[in-house]
Order: sequence, then C-alpha cells, then structure tokens
Amino acid sequence: MSLNENTQILFPYDAPPAPGTILEMAPGIFWVRLPLPVALDHVNVWVLDDGDGWTIVDCGLENEESMAVWGALTSGPLSGKRVRRLVATHSHPDHIGAARRLVQDFDIPLAATQIEWTNAVARHAEIANGVTPAQARFFTDHGYPAERAAQRTSFGKIMIPLMPNPPPLDQTIVDGTTIRFGQRNWRVIVAGGHAEAHASFYCEDDHILIAGDQILPRITPFVGVEYRDPDSDPLKTYLDSLALFSGLAEDALVLPGHGLPFRGLPQRLDQLHHHHDVRLTRVIDGLDQPRHAFDVAAQLFPKAVGTGHERMALAESIAHLHYLMYHGRVARSRDRSGVLLFERG
Ligand SMILES: [Zn+2]
Repeated sequence: MSLNENTQILFPYDAPPAPGTILEMAPGIFWVRLPLPVALDHVNVWVLDDGDGWTIVDCGLENEESMAVWGALTSGPLSGKRVRRLVATHSHPDHIGAARRLVQDFDIPLAATQIEWTNAVARHAEIANGVTPAQARFFTDHGYPAERAAQRTSFGKIMIPLMPNPPPLDQTIVDGTTIRFGQRNWRVIVAGGHAEAHASFYCEDDHILIAGDQILPRITPFVGVEYRDPDSDPLKTYLDSLALFSGLAEDALVLPGHGLPFRGLPQRLDQLHHHHDVRLTRVIDGLDQPRHAFDVAAQLFPKAVGTGHERMALAESIAHLHYLMYHGRVARSRDRSGVLLFERG
C-alpha cells in the first residue's frame, strides 16, 4: 500500500485489545494495552515472538493493575514460551516502571539507551526524595506560587510507588545500530525532546515503526523544560527529531506508546509541526504585555492550572517560550522581584 499526499491517517483497528488479551498487528508482533491511574489512562506495549520466547517492548507501571495484566498474559496467550527480554523506549514511569518486577520475575535482561537508563535512576531518586530547593526555585523563577512549588503535586504523589529503582542495564541500545528481536532487524532511532535519548525501532523490511512516545497519533508528546536543564530548548530538539522519521516508508505501520496504531506517518509529522506552529502563535499572541511563564501556562492550558498537571503545563509553556526566545522572537528579563519575564522581542 502506498499513500499519496491527500491520504488521511488510517487506523487499522478502532479499539485496543481487551485487558489481558493480545492483538496481532503484524506477523509475530502483538499489541498489549496496560492501564494507567492518570488522565492518560493507558500505555501500549508490544510483545514480539522470538521463536523460542518473547521480547517485550515497554512494560507499564509497577502496580497491581499492570501486574495483573502481565499475569493474565503469561498464563494465557503468552504461555508456552518464556519471556526472554525487556526493551525500554525511554525512562518515563509508564514505559519502564514495571521493569524491576519483570526482570526479577522472569529473570530477563533489560535493554535501553544508556542515557534513559541513567535518567530512570535519577527519576526514581527525584520522585522518592520529593521536591528539592533547586527544583522549587526553577518553578518560582517562572512565577509559580512558592507554597505550591515546595510541595509534591497530586500527580507526583501518585508516582512515588510507581517508579521504583530500575534494574541493572544489561544491553545498551545505541543510535543508528541494528538490534534484532522478534525475528526481525530493527534500526535504532534515538531522538530527544520528549525524553533525552528516546529509542524508536524501525524495521526496514516490513515498514514497521515501534515509535514509543516520539510520535503519537492524536495527542502530542509532552515536551517540557526540566529544572536540571533550565535554559534548554527541547521543542527545537523535538521538532528537529521529526526529520529522522520523514525518510521512512510512507506506508509504515506506526506502533505508538499511546493511542491507536496507524498508517500515515508523513501526514502525522506534518500535523505535529502544525500543532506546535499554532501553539507558538498563541504564545506570541498572548504576550500582549510582558508575562511570567506561569501566566502563559494559564493561557495555554487553563484546565491544567490548579491540578496535578500544572507543572507539566508550566514546563511545556517554558519550552515554547524558549523556542521563541532562541529564534529571536521573544526576549527574557527579570522583574523587580527576580522572576523571569518574557515579552515580544
Ligand atoms: Zn508515555
């Protein structure tokens, strides 16, 4: 099948597999859906038939609900062969949270990029330790209320037990190399913006992309400035990364970390660029006067402010402001109380 420019994004299935079941997306590649206890209520993971066992790509959270699904799968549709390996696309809890349990229960190796494994260790420590003064300062620097900055968000509290220390890294995934699992060769595409060194996997022979969160079908992946790298421009990194996918087969089957698998990669890449263009315009339009990033977040994400997701909204808003700043369209200064101000420039 080939797709012309006018072709829409196509979803081969309009519903995910039921909990504890699998759906074959291509010969030997199975879709599994795991629950998440947050607004984005699910994550997709992939089970690949190695012939003599299974490789799992991503694994959900380490909570009762996820582990019950893994139990139902290994005593049901996956029984008869053992799980042999866990591959992680990136370090976010919904993708790597259950790694410790699965590695321990199945006695399997973990493969990930070195950076994402290190970030999983750091994220575990960060979540376990709570908000540090440096982290709070990063937020108050952007106009976030000091009393809220010093506390964990409700989202942060949910995450404490769900992000255990990851198991040791057994195989380092390296950009541009070929990794073999599920009886196929996969080219590793490491990209930043959503996570520092997110790995996607592309099978040239069969035009299949295990995209992780780098490319999602309906929502856009979170792209935010983190307190450890307060002057970064992750939106540029993310938008630049999309070029890594523009040369892949137009009819590739895309297996995303959230949402439904789809075909129509070129169209989706265009939509992702367009989405951020629109949002950047909204940021500029909203700067009718100099504003703190937290005010910009309230304009862009009014529903998120006051919820457990407000820091993510703030981090995304800073990412858009930084992108504009490094393109010379926004200037940054400090107001009299030392809080960062952004204005059209
Ligand atoms: Zn995710």
